[in-house]
This record gives sequence, structure tokens and C-alpha cells, in this order.
Amino acid sequence: MSMEPHAHAQGQPSTGLTQTDEDGLYEIRLESLGGFGAHLAGKMLAEAAVLRMGLNGAHFSSYGSEKKGSPIKSFVRLAAASDEVRTSAPVERPFVVAVFLDNLLNDPAILSGLRSGGILIVNTTKTPEEIRAALDYPYDTLACLDATTIALEEKTRVNTAMQGALAAAIPFLDVDAVRDVLATTFARKHASIIESNLRTFDRGAAETRIDRREPAPEGRGVVSVEPKWGYLNGPIGGVVADPANTVVKNLSGSRTGRIPVFHEDKCIHCGLCDIACPDNSLSWDIVHLDDDTWLTRMRGIDYQYCKGCGACVDTCPAGALTSERETPGFADAHTVPLDWSPRVVAGARRHEPS
Ligand code: SF4
Ligand code: SF4
Repeated sequence: MSMEPHAHAQGQPSTGLTQTDEDGLYEIRLESLGGFGAHLAGKMLAEAAVLRMGLNGAHFSSYGSEKKGSPIKSFVRLAAASDEVRTSAPVERPFVVAVFLDNLLNDPAILSGLRSGGILIVNTTKTPEEIRAALDYPYDTLACLDATTIALEEKTRVNTAMQGALAAAIPFLDVDAVRDVLATTFARKHASIIESNLRTFDRGAAETRIDRREPAPEGRGVVSVEPKWGYLNGPIGGVVADPANTVVKNLSGSRTGRIPVFHEDKCIHCGLCDIACPDNSLSWDIVHLDDDTWLTRMRGIDYQYCKGCGACVDTCPAGALTSERETPGFADAHTVPLDWSPRVVAGARRHEPS
């Protein structure tokens, strides 16, 4: 096993694609959630390869509602300049899978089709050894970085650090080409944040721990997850047999490192946070008072539904909600499940404005 902070130094010239499939393609799949910028990362990667490195390439993304927290896959296909990219199907047998949030690894489909000798890149606070043990994945190349902390410290987004990791881990990518596309893109749209994004990119490349091992034996290391329904076994009439529902909906994976924390002693129960929250994540008591009237009292946050957008924190007039760095286990220990059943709260009274 070798562990190294960089796969190669900045400025190394492109040496061409190191591996290709039977169609001459090198395929990359980015696995993410809405709000992490995976689509933009894939677009810039393809742009660097095609416009700066002279390769052929294509990029597109697949997602449902354009909503923070929704699953998104972004696909990049590269080929030598002499070869055409003649497919626009989703990437099913990638050489690289980049996972923008390690929670996503709970779904085995995330690694579906990763080729023997491929590269898995994960945004995580865990070590490569811990990820390998959790996945039972002792083969191929695994690259880990804490892109969330980098993005929080630089006040940028995870996708820029992940681009640095992709440029560091994929041997033929020209780091300067990817960095140059990043600078050019931000210069066009957000000139004031070029420097912080270049720092994020450089840290992403430098802080990625790359653990290279022997390729998986043929047939090992490739997870193949077949769709549950297809045209041969789908219910007649297109019946939706597995409807989505809000009972099992879990948005916790979409939090990007920060979490709202409720301070009951400061709360004036004004309800403004409830109006601001786009996902109805706040729990309330309905309290029956002695004078036979009712009031509502903020009780806490159901973190299953909280995507960490911070709207409630920005809205609270009393400082009763603060935005904190999420630590492992905090949400589970402090979640207050949504429950509207009336209850008596000892000593409850209306808040009198001072
Ligand atoms: S906005 Fe702040 S003070 Fe008002 S109910 Fe929510 S937490 Fe309490
Ligand atoms: S951060 Fe606040 S507003 Fe945003 S989803 Fe969580 S509880 Fe709702």
C-alpha cells in the first residue's frame, strides 16, 4: 500500500488516457446530492479535458427535482482526440466514482459498475482504512479527503475541493488545466471569490490521501445493482408500487457540515422559524393553559428532515437558533421528532413582550 498526498505535481503535461473501455472511453461518475455543485464540477472537468487537454469528451447530469438534497449523478466521458464519443447513456461502468458525501455509501448502488483498477474518491472525515473496512473493499485506488471542512474553512463549496481531489487522483488529468478552467469560470461569474476557490482547489488536491492497491480480481469489486422494476416485470398500467412519502424521507444526508442548534432558554416562541423552514423540520408543542386557551411552543428540531440550510437561524429574532459545525452523533442525540399531539407543559405561559 502506498499513501501519498499528491498523485502528481502541478504542471505535469497530459500523457493521454491511461485506461479506456472497449469503445475507447474513459468514464467518470460523480455521485452527489443537490446543493453540492456536482453538475458544475463535472462540467468544468470535461471542459478542462476537451478545451485545455485536446481530448474528446461529453458531460451531462441526471437529477429529479432541482432541490437541495435530491440525488444527482453527473457523468463525464473522455476519449482520445481521434475517437468519437458516440453515446449519451448514463455511465454504468466508470473508471472513477467520486462520492461527494460519505453517507451516500450506505447505498451499494453508489459504487455500481466501478471497474477493476478504478478509482474511488470519497468526501469523508474517515481514513481510507476505515472506508475500506466499511465497504469490504481492499482493492484498487481509494482517495479520501475532508472536502466539507475545506469548503467551510474557505467559505466555498464542496465541489471545488472535490475537483482538486479528482485532478490529484486521476493520473492523466492536467492539474493546471482544471485549475485554469476553474479560474476562468469564476472570473466570468463571481470574480470576488476566485482566490478562495483556487485555495479550495489546491487544498483539495494537497489534502487528498491516496491509497493505491492492486486491481480487484475480475468479478470482485464491481457491485451490480439491477433496477427493481423493468419493462419485463413492471406492474401493468405503470402503477407506482413504491411511492415516495414523507414518513421515510430523510434529508440529513444533504447537510453540508453545519446544523441548526436550538437554545430553549432564549426562545420567545414567535414561530418565525417555522415560516422560514422549507421542510417543516421544527417540532412544536400545543399547550393548553390554565385560562382555557392554547398556545404553541417551539420544542426542537427533527433532524431527519433538516437539510441544514440555515434559514431558521437567519430568521430567529432572539438568538435561540445558532448554526454549528455538525459532529458525528449530534443529530441522533438531539433530534426532537415531529409530533403535534397536544400536551401540558408545566409552568407554560404566554410570552409577554418586554
Ligand atoms: S424564531 Fe427563534 S424565538 Fe421564534 S420560535 Fe423560532 S427559535 Fe423561538
Ligand atoms: S436549517 Fe432550519 S430552516 Fe433549514 S431545514 Fe433545517 S430546520 Fe429547516
